[in-house]
Amino acid sequence: FRRGVRTFATSALRLAEPSPHLLAVSKAQGVSNGLTEAIGNTPLIRLKRLSEETGCEVLGKAEFMNPGGSVKDRAALYVVKNAEEQGLLKPGGTVVEGTAGNTGIGLAHVCRSKGYKLVIYMPNTQSQGKIDLLRLLGAEVYPVPAVAFDNPENYNHQARRHAERTDNAVWTNQFDNVANRQAHIETTGPEIWAQTAGKIDAFTCATGTGGTLAGTTRYLKTVSDGRVKCFLADPPGSVLHSYIQSGGKLVERSGSSITEGIGQGRVTDNLAPDLGLLDGSLHISDEKTIEMVYRCLDEEGLYLGASSTLNVVAAKEVAEKLGRGHTVVTMLCDGAYRYADRLFSRKWLADKKLLDSIPKHLEKYIVL
Ligand code: PMP
Repeated sequence: FRRGVRTFATSALRLAEPSPHLLAVSKAQGVSNGLTEAIGNTPLIRLKRLSEETGCEVLGKAEFMNPGGSVKDRAALYVVKNAEEQGLLKPGGTVVEGTAGNTGIGLAHVCRSKGYKLVIYMPNTQSQGKIDLLRLLGAEVYPVPAVAFDNPENYNHQARRHAERTDNAVWTNQFDNVANRQAHIETTGPEIWAQTAGKIDAFTCATGTGGTLAGTTRYLKTVSDGRVKCFLADPPGSVLHSYIQSGGKLVERSGSSITEGIGQGRVTDNLAPDLGLLDGSLHISDEKTIEMVYRCLDEEGLYLGASSTLNVVAAKEVAEKLGRGHTVVTMLCDGAYRYADRLFSRKWLADKKLLDSIPKHLEKYIVL
């Protein structure tokens, strides 16, 4: 919980203009004009048992309720909108991205809805299931050799080159395209502020691209004049926790985690402007994350992926640190559907040495 590297004075922040999206939040929920208007405005769910346990309000933003099933729908919509606004993408154009995960699914929905072609590059180590899903959502998928980022054949570089050699095409570049972070400045942050009526003391979440943490932190710090405390939550194998704790020393990435979609080896352009706003960071073990997958299911009826439950563990720890009477918000990034064959498999849990992390009374959920 040491304070983060502080490069921005919060007092210097100006209050953001109320975004059109914030106005939409307060509008009665009527008919959405197409899929893109159905993105965001997700419920904020009070986690009853953890709230009782901590004496705090522990709240999770139900991002699994987005049309594509994850928080990444927000970024997908904003990177496409941004490309349109900049004149980089015109009707009939092509969106190209390097991704194996939720961003691809979000982009596929958004591109279909808006009539764009989608091309996805991904490492060929990804499951056939992911390739099939993207293809059935209309994407052209290229599995390419899984080589490191500094190799020109890495899937990200291949995506960029594909866009460069194609007319009316854009590489959306989710990691360093700050339209991703902007999605959360204009939607996630304002929604949380409105849903809690400003009664929020802390926000915490993990990062992949960093868009969610950075954008939401930026908005909440701005609107609360720095009062809302914001924390990064990091899985094993990610470098950001040690980066923050050491005051800015970047170490080599090593180790791995059962979580998918989060953990980072560098400070992305989405994260860089806002890292200094953070009040600290937490390291969350896979043991705690997997236990919380089972607890959320049993206690709350919430069927969550591991990045969501890592966030829930972080929210619980922040609540315990702040003490009774506080309100802590986190992100429920996606559901467990895509991960069920692992998270609820006895063999997989044993291979990962995580069987002992499941409390005896919750073993009934290990059904695969
Ligand atoms: N959880 C899941 C399941 C994800 O797919 C992602 C995105 N990779 C994240 C969390 C992290 O979100 P962000 O990219 O905004 O940091």
